[in-house]
Amino acid sequence: MDTAHAAPGRIRKVVIAGGGTAGWLAGCALAHQFRDLLDITLVESDQIGTIGVGESTVPPIRNFHRFLQIDEQEFLRAVAGTFKLSISFEGWGQPGDRYLHPFGPAGQGTWATPFHHFWLDSRRRGMPPSTLADFCLEGVAALADRFSLDTRPQVNYAYHLDAGLYARFLRGIAERHGLVRVEGKIGEVERHAHSGDVAAVVLDDGRRLEGDLFIDCTGFRGLLIEQALETGYEDWSHWLPCDRAIAVQTESAGGPVPYTRAIAHEAGWRWQIPLQHRVGNGLVYCSRYLSDDEAQARLMHDMESRPLREPRLVPFRTGRRLRTWNRNVVALGLTSGFVEPLESTSLHLTMSAIVRLIQLFPFEGISPALVDRFNDLGRAEAEHVRDFVILHYHATRRDGPMWAECREMELPASLEQRLRAWRDRAHAWQLGDELFRVDSWAHVLMGQGVQPGPPHPLVRGLGDDALRQLLAGIRAQIAHAAAGMPSQQTFIASYCKAGPGVWSAGMPAPA
Ligand SMILES: Cc1cc2nc3c(=O)[nH]c(=O)nc-3n(C[C@H](O)[C@H](O)[C@H](O)COP(=O)(O)OP(=O)(O)OC[C@H]3O[C@@H](n4cnc5c(N)ncnc54)[C@H](O)[C@@H]3O)c2cc1C
Repeated sequence: MDTAHAAPGRIRKVVIAGGGTAGWLAGCALAHQFRDLLDITLVESDQIGTIGVGESTVPPIRNFHRFLQIDEQEFLRAVAGTFKLSISFEGWGQPGDRYLHPFGPAGQGTWATPFHHFWLDSRRRGMPPSTLADFCLEGVAALADRFSLDTRPQVNYAYHLDAGLYARFLRGIAERHGLVRVEGKIGEVERHAHSGDVAAVVLDDGRRLEGDLFIDCTGFRGLLIEQALETGYEDWSHWLPCDRAIAVQTESAGGPVPYTRAIAHEAGWRWQIPLQHRVGNGLVYCSRYLSDDEAQARLMHDMESRPLREPRLVPFRTGRRLRTWNRNVVALGLTSGFVEPLESTSLHLTMSAIVRLIQLFPFEGISPALVDRFNDLGRAEAEHVRDFVILHYHATRRDGPMWAECREMELPASLEQRLRAWRDRAHAWQLGDELFRVDSWAHVLMGQGVQPGPPHPLVRGLGDDALRQLLAGIRAQIAHAAAGMPSQQTFIASYCKAGPGVWSAGMPAPA
């Protein structure tokens, strides 16, 4: 198709501003889907670089990859990736405790009563203590450091990936599908005098990139959606107090475990993300309660292996752009907002927004109704994730001023409603496309020490022997499946080991 002579209002030229993970995910997906319908250009600045974090994911990434026809083994070799079955929350209820948020289903429920009701009733009846994660293959396999794709039932999993290598991998696909990459720094955003829409981005060297639709992936800067269009931002820092992270990569210490670690401290938490060739670490904190120097000292003190480069400070502001699609600009990735990295949801929200954009793509011109739909869906999705993450901060017995503040804060009404339903009747729910399932809520509510109300009466009608047999049967089946799985290291060695070329490209220059 001749994309240079589109009728007025029609969208043919798309300019993606920014080449972090968000920009390349968008470029890859649009070029893959619409290569014959659109001219797509991506402009990025090596001088500015990318945020360089964002290495832990959630399972729907596999659907997104399937949609892009990405071969899993090729992808994992290219990003030195590992498998993720769970997040291990350490010290969140109180110092010294630990719970898992595994990805798979817990036990077997009925249509009327999710499994956690059966499990809760076993506790009420004084049966041997267990955790909900004991009834989840992903939880048991994670703690035993096992991974396989040949289990029955199949495990539900996500990945840990090297963010720099992932952007490079996506770029390769996008360019193969005809996307044009431009290296340069955007110095100015030009708007149409009459409509106020964005007309072009102008680079520092004077080059001008015109477009019909612009995708703003310039990270927290929000060059188009905010600096040019002044869209506005809803701040969530009164619910999510952390506003900074210090990130550092370290050498691998032992084989990679198949889970992300999230370890609470007095003013935030620390992540540990094991890759094939290194470990990603970071300390997330609230700058009102911990200085940058203290945070860095704490992070370096807690490292279990040698740093590979200097630690890097990453300030952020939790919240959400008031409209992620405004005029002819769509904001994706950090430009659209940021919940915070605790449940590794940012890449997922980006992928989900890209799928929505493809579904609603305005070839025939921008429709306000579809723009509203795009914005409403994105908002609902982000608020759902926000509530889930706030729960971890709010429901805690930890000491210290930051945690006390979180315990006492006024919650969003939507989260308040969930907590009431849990405390009244152990009830949790999942609407339509929501990311976090009933089991996810149950794992975190129990892990954070939120006492549930009585289980469903249907479960209470089950005899002791029948309940004991049901639980023992599930655990035996899971133990059998986990015992047949190799260690993650062994599995990776045969399935997706990254070669030395990948390793060295993904390794930072020595500190
Ligand atoms: C501390 C922290 C931890 C995180 N951990 C996770 C995680 O575990 N899992 C997860 O899913 N997400 C995580 N995230 C979020 C994740 O990092 C981002 O969603 C992801 O990296 C996408 O970033 P981005 O592409 O939006 O922005 P960036 O990586 O900042 O990319 C911005 C791009 O815009 C370009 N640019 C900016 N200005 C200009 C200009 N003037 N001219 C030209 N180009 C320009 C830059 O060069 C760059 O290419 C984390 C975020 C933070 C802050």
